[in-house]
Amino acid sequence: MRILFVTSEAYPLIKTGGLADVSGSLPAALQHLGADVRILIPGYQSVLDKLKNSHLLTTIHGLPMVGSVELILGEMPDTGVPVMAISCPSLYQRAGSPYLDTSGREWEDNPLRFGTLSQVAAWLSLHEDNPLGSWIPDIVHCNDWQSGLTPVHLYYSNKKCAKSVLSIHNLLFLGCYSADWVKRLGLPTESYHMNGLEYYGQMSFLKAGIYYADSITTVSPTYAHEIQTAEYGFGMQGLLAARGHEIHGILNGIEMNEWNPATDPHLANAYDVTNLEGKKQVKHALQTQLGLAPNSDSPLLGVVSRLTHQKGLDMFLAVAEPLLHQGCQIALLGGGEAELEAGFKQLAQRYPQQVSVTIGYNEPLSHQIMAGADIFIMPSRFEPCGLNQMYGLRYGTPPIVTRTGGLADSVQDSNPITLQEGTATGFVMVAPDAQHLLTSIHRALAYFREPRIWQKIQRNGMSRDLGWDRSAKAYLEIYSSLTSIAD
Ligand code: ADP
Repeated sequence: MRILFVTSEAYPLIKTGGLADVSGSLPAALQHLGADVRILIPGYQSVLDKLKNSHLLTTIHGLPMVGSVELILGEMPDTGVPVMAISCPSLYQRAGSPYLDTSGREWEDNPLRFGTLSQVAAWLSLHEDNPLGSWIPDIVHCNDWQSGLTPVHLYYSNKKCAKSVLSIHNLLFLGCYSADWVKRLGLPTESYHMNGLEYYGQMSFLKAGIYYADSITTVSPTYAHEIQTAEYGFGMQGLLAARGHEIHGILNGIEMNEWNPATDPHLANAYDVTNLEGKKQVKHALQTQLGLAPNSDSPLLGVVSRLTHQKGLDMFLAVAEPLLHQGCQIALLGGGEAELEAGFKQLAQRYPQQVSVTIGYNEPLSHQIMAGADIFIMPSRFEPCGLNQMYGLRYGTPPIVTRTGGLADSVQDSNPITLQEGTATGFVMVAPDAQHLLTSIHRALAYFREPRIWQKIQRNGMSRDLGWDRSAKAYLEIYSSLTSIAD
């Protein structure tokens, strides 16, 4: 089985969020199961810098507005998975993030940047007139809106081609742009239709993918249901419900080696499920490093997150003060909306011994908070899968979560019944509001003060198999079912 895995970010080459983690891990897990996988990614500077053993594979000509791009073949630095990077300096080599300029505004030419990614992916997926010739995939696996146009190109190519799968990692990002882009990107005008890629007077990359892909997956079973409802569907629920029988919810795994408290190089001490002593030292080191009072009894509440409405941290800000008065500490790492950043920073100024706020992106600190905190706070309003709650489970830092998407599928509430069954791993809020968050934190604190029960909850989470193997097998089943269908 040959799989072309198309993505706009992949850890450790480039990362802004969970998509990068998935794109770093899933292809490696598929390869482990015997699949022949290649990643296709834009050639941002950091991608070109970090690729191992890279060399020019071929030049692809005839791209709308761009002309030619070079295809560089290299390998992932850690797993060795083959990567094809699209080298086009005018599109991809610039300061800023993959999607935003240095002042946080979306790049104006994003439709061209990711339209080009989608187009190249489609050409590499053709079974006739393939520009590469030497490596022709059975499956093209697109991810989120950035590669949403690939299935449209394939549909209108009228050529034999790979079957397409679209994975929705977050339906919030629809990739909507002015309808002019349909022509500019060389798409057939008839595709711009309500039954096509038109979305309320604009073109939507994601809708295009949802409409034309042969199969759709999303990153948790609960989210697969939620996106077919008005509450979570962002106007796409009708189309998604119409394709409901082709939508598969597969919970993401986590990279068990990268996120392992027994071997994590970012931690002051190692620990594991049989020996939690080291976690206390990690907490002490974190408190010292962040300038918090080094008090082992103070419950340390950790947050690592984008600071956006989705993540619900305004609810946490609203209830933080009473928790601080009860002796809690807070260690937050994240960035995003100015108002939330300012709110947390003010809190840190008022309670310097108890609150540490780090604005920005910091990989080592994210590991240190995940390990050094006692409780992880993740009250997302919606969460397609979420990885941080799983990192919390892995690091013996029980998460407090809302009952939505992948949070509902990966965290089991702690109560007398689940404690008895040995399944309790965290705390699930009854409703997504500040009051219920506070109630859940109080429930967690009550157990925290009873070390025997608390360690049981920690150990239950740390013993969970959260690796990629199970999910990769589910993806392979979908690929196999598609390739067995005759054209
Ligand atoms: P999302 O993709 O919606 O942002 P996820 O929980 O699926 O949320 O994944 C977020 C990923 O990004 C995790 O690996 C998390 O550790 C990481 N992350 C988020 N914010 C930061 C930050 N400020 N510094 C370092 N890592 C971060």
